Amino acid sequence: MAGRLSLRRTPQERRDVPLRGYKLAYPMLSADGTEAGFTGVSLGRTHAYRVTAEAKCAQSSRHQSPSRLCDCGFYCFHELADARALACDPQYQQSVLLEVDAAGRYFLYERGVRYSKQTVTAVHAGLCACGWPAQVFVATGTGVVGWRKLLPVCSTCAGNRPPLTLEHFSRLAGVPVHRDDRAVAFTTGSTTSAPELVPLLSAEVALLHARLDELQTQLDKLTKGS
Ligand SMILES: [Zn+2]
Ligand SMILES: [Zn+2]
Repeated sequence: MAGRLSLRRTPQERRDVPLRGYKLAYPMLSADGTEAGFTGVSLGRTHAYRVTAEAKCAQSSRHQSPSRLCDCGFYCFHELADARALACDPQYQQSVLLEVDAAGRYFLYERGVRYSKQTVTAVHAGLCACGWPAQVFVATGTGVVGWRKLLPVCSTCAGNRPPLTLEHFSRLAGVPVHRDDRAVAFTTGSTTSAPELVPLLSAEVALLHARLDELQTQLDKLTKGS
């Protein structure tokens, strides 16, 4: 197993000066085609959010999000390399990489942060399934209520499907959308991306473990009646 995530969690605080972070998401288009949004790639897969969003708990309206006793809230990594590493996992392929500002109520972990207020500041379109940088988005035929899920693809793989250009998505979202040429390090041979950046135990799972540890601590306290 990969090493345990060491917990350097701060008490829950509020933060007005945002932390910069990186995360993966699936791009979404509103049903009427006028708004761009995203969904999470693991937790939060069923809920679309816009460029500026406040976390809400899907399981309970009784607590503010994020909460120690729940896994709700937005998540991001501190380091771009961790988000890029996660994108190599087949289950997260065809996502896009978001640069975000994380603010509001938050929990700080060694590799990431869980927080209440999110502003997406840039989108990197990632890779087509064939390996080339994505150049357009096409509809996947899936989605959540009110939103269609988009797929980043290269122009060859888009075929004759109607494309939504990165520029169009950028206009709808109000943030820059970049072709992620750096995601294909193996075609340039110019970067230092090392195999250890792609741990078997993905960084997001490590973050999940941190959260489970936190819940266990709470449970221990409750069962000891303290
Ligand atoms: Zn919750
Ligand atoms: Zn392709």
